[in-house]
This record gives sequence, C-alpha cells and structure tokens, in this order.
Amino acid sequence: MGFDLLNGAHFRQALTPEGWVRNLSVHFAADGTIASTAQDDNPDGLPVYENPVVPGITDLHSHAFQYAMAGLSEVRRNPVDSFWSWRDIMYFFALTLSPEDLQAIAARLYLSLLKGGYTGIVEFHYVHNDLDGTPYARREELSLGIFEAAKLTGLDLTHLPVFYAHSNFGGLAPTDGQRRFIQDLDGYAAMLDSLRAPAQAGGHTLGIAPHSLRAATPEEITQLLKLRADLIPGSPVHIHVAEQVKEVEDALAWNGRRPVQQLFDIAPVDEAWCLIHATHLTASEVAMIAHSGATVGLCPMTEANLGDGIFRATDYIAQGGSFGIGSDSNIATYASQELQQLEYSQRLRDRQRNVLSSMDTPHVAANLWSRAAQGGARAAGRPEQGLAPGGLASFVELTTPEPGAMLPVDPEAALDFHVFAGRGFHVGDVVVRGRRVVTAGHHPMENVIVSDYHKAMQRVAARLSDRGTVA
Ligand SMILES: [Zn+2]
Repeated sequence: MGFDLLNGAHFRQALTPEGWVRNLSVHFAADGTIASTAQDDNPDGLPVYENPVVPGITDLHSHAFQYAMAGLSEVRRNPVDSFWSWRDIMYFFALTLSPEDLQAIAARLYLSLLKGGYTGIVEFHYVHNDLDGTPYARREELSLGIFEAAKLTGLDLTHLPVFYAHSNFGGLAPTDGQRRFIQDLDGYAAMLDSLRAPAQAGGHTLGIAPHSLRAATPEEITQLLKLRADLIPGSPVHIHVAEQVKEVEDALAWNGRRPVQQLFDIAPVDEAWCLIHATHLTASEVAMIAHSGATVGLCPMTEANLGDGIFRATDYIAQGGSFGIGSDSNIATYASQELQQLEYSQRLRDRQRNVLSSMDTPHVAANLWSRAAQGGARAAGRPEQGLAPGGLASFVELTTPEPGAMLPVDPEAALDFHVFAGRGFHVGDVVVRGRRVVTAGHHPMENVIVSDYHKAMQRVAARLSDRGTVA
C-alpha cells in the first residue's frame, strides 16, 4: 500500500495531554510511536502543519455492517418503536450479507471514519456464520474481511470476535434470527486461535468480547477469560452492558442483581475492560466502574437514535472515570458528532451549558477530545499518551470549510468550532502510526473503495427485494 511514511512533523498548534502547545517538533520512532517532542523553531526542517492538529481518536465500538442499513429504520412500524423493534430490522438485514459485501461495507465505513477524526477502530464483530447459520469452512472468514478493510484504508484495528450463544439471561436458547452470530465455546476457541497469526501479520490487536450478559452465561464468561489468558493474555475485553431498561429488568428478574453488579460479581473488571453503553447505572455502579480503571464505551449518537437513555457523564467524570466514544451502528461517522451529542445530552438534562469541562480545562471540546482519545486508546490496548513521547504518531489536521471561516480571535477555540459549529468535519492530512493515509482530505484508494461499496449495495438491495419488506 502506498502510504507515505513520515519520520516527524512540526505543528504550529497541537493538542497535547498538557493542552494546546505552539511550535511543537515531533519525531517518530520506526514502530509508529512518538520518540520525542520539543518546542522549537523546527531546526530539523520537519514537514510543517500550519493548521491545528489533534490526536486521532480510536472509535472504540463499531458493528461495521450496520453502516449500510442507515436510513432503513427511521419509520414507525409499531405503536411503540424501541431498541427491540430496531433490532428485528437489524437481524433481518444481517441475514442478507455475503463475505464480499461485508468487506466492502467495512472499507467504506473505515474511509469515512478516517475523515471523521478517527485513526483507530475497535470492531465488535459478531456476524460469524453463513446465511443458514453453519460456520464457514474457515470459521474466521468474515473477520478476515475486516482485516482486509483495515489494511486497505490504513485504519488501526483492534478486532474483537464476539462470543454470542443465548437470547437472554439464564442461557435461553438463541432465536432463529440470531443464527449468524451463534458459537459454542469450542468453536470460538478455534476461531480465536486461527486469528492470531493473521492479526500479527497485519499489525492488528486482538481481544475478546462476550456480547452481553444476555448472550453469555457467567460460566461461559469465566471460560472466555481463561481462553484469553492462554491465547492473548492482557488483551482488551469488551461487553455490552445496561443499555436498555428492559435489560436491567430482565437481569433483576433472573437473579435479583443489576447487570453491572452481576458483571463485577463474576469477573475481575480492570483497565483492560471496556463496558459498552453502561447507560442505566445507580450511583454505586457509577463509582464501581470509575474506580475499577475500566473504560466506559459511550456511543452517544446511536444511544440517542435508539432511545437508550442518558449516561451519567457528570457523576462519572467527576470520579475520574475513563471513557471513549464509539460509532456503534455507524449512523454517524464524525467523532465531533459523538462528543457534541454527549455534551448536549447533559446540557438538556441539567439545563446548563459547558457541562463536561472544568475551570481548569474550560474548553469543552478540547477536554472531551483529549479524554476520548485516551479512553479509546486504553480500550483498544494501545499507548494512551496522545501527542507526547511514548504515544502513537496518529493525528488529524483540522481544516475549515473555507479560509477565514472562523474568527481568528482565540486559536484555542479551533476544536470548539469543529465540534460545536464545524459545519461538517473538515480534515487535511490524517496520519496513523507515522503513515499518512489521508493527504489534503484525499485517500489514495478512495475511488476503489467507493465503487466496491456501491456494487455491494446493489447486491444487497437485490437480495432484500427478493426477501420482501423489512420486518
Ligand atoms: Zn454495540
């Protein structure tokens, strides 16, 4: 792949863990991390970035295939539509995709994410089986398509093959609509083992993901953690938890314990863990997660779209909790949209402004961006340092719709402009681990990726029309 490899860059204005810094020279190491930084007048003649530069964010939660169903679920089909009726449409859609389709959709999504402020992705991958529910000859077939999409686009991938075995608490049998997701422990172990060599060859990180406490029993989660210790010790562990009120009610009905409490009862939750959504929490559950070192994976645009509820971000952040953002259903592909929605959810609830900031870090967007970059890196099993020695040489150059679009009064407001009034998210260069994958807003494989995606959409449309209307 023809990506330029940079050995460093000079930033006129960069967002570092210490805040905005001017005239920063950054040297990259051969492994794609930052070797050193210095504030100087660029004595080594490094390539200069006149526009503001921010660390790339890792999108910590994606189901790539859902990108292609955007627009299909915004129609009322029931007296009360909910997450659960949306899920029926998603299941229907998942039963139409070929391996080739899935790879083309993932590549198109990843291209958009690179232009949306993300330099990494955590793919929570749960479509494993063929259309009739039998495993592919190579069990890891669809995961390998995700690897190809990451390679083609240059997005930094952490891949989480998902363990999914049941339809609800208590190990209930799966439904027919879930047949492409279902694995037993032996099949899962074989797939994870087979993925290790190609992941290493492609530079991808592997982790594990019990889908949820609905889809994996406590005994199975214990077995999955043993498997991780044997095959990929210390790797990330992600799980959906407490996204919906019904999930909390079902958990209580099953054994009298709320989902987050159940999880902490059965597993040693620590920094390697990422709890996806964690929307419905008691005060003690907020404290438990914040003090565990785990990251909460917030997906504000999807959570709003699905009517999940509002995360207790003010309480959680006040206790030092780690969080990152995920595009989840991929209806939105800009990191700025997720952060804006996160802040706005708290403003609407509390009837205040500039909520997720402090008097020490008053710029809301810079505060949220830095925290989300660090939390996303932690959840992906990568260095958390940001644009500082030891961090990844992954960054995004911010541009504006036209020169002079923003008043040049306060340079530190650049990111606030992009997140809260960006009028679209505009990027110049995007660099991932020292490789320039987007140059002045253009990706070298863009034409191929878009064309392959359009062909896949035509195939999917034909199959959907063969099967009749959605839900
Ligand atoms: Zn999800």
